[in-house]
Amino acid sequence: MKNKFSYVIALLLVHSILIYGWGDKGHKTITLFAMKLIPQQMYLSEDMKLAIIEHSVDPDKRKRDDRSEGPKHFIDIDYYKEYMDGKIITSLDTLKKLYGEKAVVKEGILPWATEDSYSKLIGAFKSGNKDEIILYASDLAHYVEDGHQPLHATVNYNGQLTDQKGIHSRYEIDMVDDSLNAIKNGFMLQNPFYVKDLSGYIFDYIMESNSYVEMLLSADKYSSGKTDGKFNKEYYRLLWLKTKYITINEFNFGALSLASLIYSAWVDAGKPKIPD
Ligand SMILES: [Zn+2]
Repeated sequence: MKNKFSYVIALLLVHSILIYGWGDKGHKTITLFAMKLIPQQMYLSEDMKLAIIEHSVDPDKRKRDDRSEGPKHFIDIDYYKEYMDGKIITSLDTLKKLYGEKAVVKEGILPWATEDSYSKLIGAFKSGNKDEIILYASDLAHYVEDGHQPLHATVNYNGQLTDQKGIHSRYEIDMVDDSLNAIKNGFMLQNPFYVKDLSGYIFDYIMESNSYVEMLLSADKYSSGKTDGKFNKEYYRLLWLKTKYITINEFNFGALSLASLIYSAWVDAGKPKIPD
C-alpha cells in the first residue's frame, strides 16, 4: 500500500514538474493579447493590465512550494471515456464518484481551478480590492491559457505514449519562444462576450485543444523525421511551419476566452468601478 501511494505521489510530481504551459513568454503574450481586448466600458487601467500580464505566470511558480497546485494546470481529458464519447461531465464530484478522487486529481483539475478563480474574481470585483483583482485575474489568465495548450488536455502530454518524449517543452517553450515575433504579429482584434454557461464554455475550449493533439504529434514526427531525430534549428523551423496556424489561433482564442471571462466576472459582480 505504501509503495502504491509513493508511486502515485511520484507520478503526480513527474506530471507537475514537466508541465509548464506555454512558458513565461507564451503566457505573458496571451495575457497581453487579452488585455488589448478588454471592453472599454470596464475602464481597466493600464497599470492594472500590466500587473495582470506580469502575474499571469505566478501559478507556475507556486508549484514549487505547493503540491496541490500542479494538477490545476491540466486535464487529461482523453483519459475519460465519457468525454471522448461526447458526454461532458462538468461536475467534479460526479467524476470523483465514477473514478475515485486520486485518479481525478492525478489526471488534472484544470476546469475547476478555472471556475474557482472566476468566482474569486467576482468577489474581488465586488469588494473593490485591487490586489485581489490582480491576483485572481492573473490566476484566471494562467488557467485559461493552459486550457488552450493542446498538450495540457491529453494523457499523452509529453509524447511519452508515442515515443516522442519532450514534445511538451519543445512545442510550448522552445518553439514558441523562437517564434514569438511571428505570434505577436498574428494578434487578432476580437470582441469579448458575456459567457452564460461557464463550465460548458471551459470544457468546450478544452475539447477543442484536445482535438489538436494529433496534429501536434504528427508535426513533431514529421519534423524529427526530416532531421534524423535531431532537435536542431531545422527541426524547429519545420515544427513551426506545421503548427503555426493552430498555435496563432490558440493564442488568439485563449485571449478571447480570457477577456470574455474577465468581462463576464465583472458583469456578474454588478459592473462595479474598478480601482486603478
Ligand atoms: Zn501552467
